[in-house]
Amino acid sequence: MTVQAQILDLMRDLQAEFGSAIIMITHDLGVVAEIANDVLVMYGGRCVEYAEVDDLFHQPDHPYTWGLLSSMPRLDRVKLERLVPVAGNPPSLINVPPGCAFNPRCAFKEFSPRPCNVDEPQLLESYPKHDSRCHIPVPKRAEVFAERVAPKL
Ligand code: SF4
Repeated sequence: MTVQAQILDLMRDLQAEFGSAIIMITHDLGVVAEIANDVLVMYGGRCVEYAEVDDLFHQPDHPYTWGLLSSMPRLDRVKLERLVPVAGNPPSLINVPPGCAFNPRCAFKEFSPRPCNVDEPQLLESYPKHDSRCHIPVPKRAEVFAERVAPKL
């Protein structure tokens, strides 16, 4: 953790010195929270959610992002509970599932009004500067997140 913090500091210093952007590819949401301004969540080779970092952590809007957050240990919580992994395995990128690539692993497709294994969702704006790729209507997604996901994070 100490070395990681030093490397992140170094990256920040270099970015400030050269006025450049940094693209960081990681599964570590702690690092994302620490260093990113904008976050693009990828699944099956496609962007499934794009938002400013605070919005992504406060109002995540895609079931895969919910899964990533649910499987992340929280050191700021006293209560120790079992982490909830995303069931199944990532798809092969040479054989991406039809429809929504996440559909074989999605625990929320019962809320979709369209067949997730047939229709591919488009990346659409859910909120200002916050896009996601899911068939569940945005208000319903917010409700599902508030009732079923957020209490367990
Ligand atoms: S489109 Fe369907 S399978 Fe894909 S994330 Fe949304 S609910 Fe889940």
